[in-house]
Amino acid sequence: MSAKVWLVGAGPGDPELLTLKAVRALREADVVMIDDLVNPAVLEHCPRARVIAVGKRGGCRSTPQAFIHRLMLRYARQGKCVVRLKGGDPCIFGRGGEEAQWLRERQIEVELVNGITAGLAGATQCDISLTLRGVARGVTLVTAHTQDDSELNWRALSQGGTTLVIYMGVAKLGEIRQQLLDGGMALDTPVAMIENASMPCQRECRSNLTAMQEDAYSFQLKSPAILVIGAVAASAALQQGLPASVTPLPLPSSAAL
Ligand code: SAH
Repeated sequence: MSAKVWLVGAGPGDPELLTLKAVRALREADVVMIDDLVNPAVLEHCPRARVIAVGKRGGCRSTPQAFIHRLMLRYARQGKCVVRLKGGDPCIFGRGGEEAQWLRERQIEVELVNGITAGLAGATQCDISLTLRGVARGVTLVTAHTQDDSELNWRALSQGGTTLVIYMGVAKLGEIRQQLLDGGMALDTPVAMIENASMPCQRECRSNLTAMQEDAYSFQLKSPAILVIGAVAASAALQQGLPASVTPLPLPSSAAL
């Protein structure tokens, strides 16, 4: 591999959730540019590479996107094999699409490698099935954070009947709750808030739409966390004994199964 940029998803944190293809790209990399949501443990697969941290956490010191673009371009033009390693999947709220287009416009070969996105991993690690026959026939991934302040169609999200997985929502819990209530979502809709999904320090807070903001506050929920909102978010709690604020999941009838 040479003169190529791999845009690689490192998954949610657990190094065993890396794909074999991600490991191959890392092994062959000369330069690895790593985001700060990536678990540094995955760097064991690239002992030869020069590693450059280019984290961009909201509200923290960050590397400007234009600088990251130029750095990738510079190394690729030097004939180096560049791996741009991102948390989760590069194309789920990860700017993978933008970076690929920018590089291809400059005649740089790009290959995208999937990673397991945090929303899917977090739910699975908490025994939540995001789709469940007879309960949720779809799943919608959204971000609570936008750069241009564009609005989501909250009414459609509230009434769409799919499980909602919300990224970057920790600082906006009150707003999310209010928008979903205004959009017509039931007060007792189960909510799971999952912090550091797939890491040894993973924590989960089960609640419902009414109580989610208060419960997250008492729990001291911190970023990175995802919110899973919908009937399926009560599923594991059902087996373990429910906290008072969680309404039991109506089990699908055998006809639906
Ligand atoms: N490309 C990433 C998402 C980047 S956006 C992916 O596919 O997962 C950053 C947001 O992702 C965080 O604010 C948080 O909502 C979520 N996130 C990333 N890693 C996480 C983790 N280990 N646990 C919970 N949420 C996580």
